[in-house]
Amino acid sequence: MKPKRLPELRENDIARFWAKVDQRGVDECWSWLGTTKPPDNRGAFIIERAYENLKRNLYAPRISYALHYGCDPYPDYVLHNCDNANCVNPHHLRLGDTEDNSADSIAAGTQVCGERCHTTKLTNANVKKIKIALMNNTSVEDLARDYKVDSRAIRRIREGVTWKHVEVSGFCPFQWRRLSEVDVKAIKLALLRGELLRKIAQRYGVCVSTISHIGCGKTWKHVEVPGFKPHTTRRTL
Ligand SMILES: [Zn+2]
Repeated sequence: MKPKRLPELRENDIARFWAKVDQRGVDECWSWLGTTKPPDNRGAFIIERAYENLKRNLYAPRISYALHYGCDPYPDYVLHNCDNANCVNPHHLRLGDTEDNSADSIAAGTQVCGERCHTTKLTNANVKKIKIALMNNTSVEDLARDYKVDSRAIRRIREGVTWKHVEVSGFCPFQWRRLSEVDVKAIKLALLRGELLRKIAQRYGVCVSTISHIGCGKTWKHVEVPGFKPHTTRRTL
């Protein structure tokens, strides 16, 4: 089998995936309720997008691992700590090489997140610190370097795709996609008028850090508003 990247997991893929999982407590096994693939009846999750000419039959624990840790396991294999091949609880999954790969579980399949993948060992405590740093406008790249993880892992934390259960007060997932250019123009004008970030955020239904990112030019730089200059210091909320 030729290694292949995991396709992008969109919101509806993620929702569809978890709908096929009997999610329980962290210590319990989470059964895969979806289809399985012969000959060894491995959990299979299919992503099909006709308009992209994409059809992939993916190993369900690999998806669970990727969603939870924000990193495609390839080239490592996803193995079970619980000896239950049908389980997709990410806390019961670990990475290993082929030698570990007994009756346990099989190929994560395929693909590339770079060698850093197996050093990815984020913990709840780290993720908490990462979320706080993100709120303080630390860049994704800096965090990826500090914690020795792939920058995609940080992005997924920022977007609320992974590590949702680690709660940090005031943190909400990065939501720049929801704003339109017209919104952003109005937001920049509001910032120019000196309105409070908190008020603007409330008006547009986004989090304060979204407004702060616009204010400091981290996002939406290309939307120009006469007189608007990104601020470099942290503004009052
Ligand atoms: Zn299990």
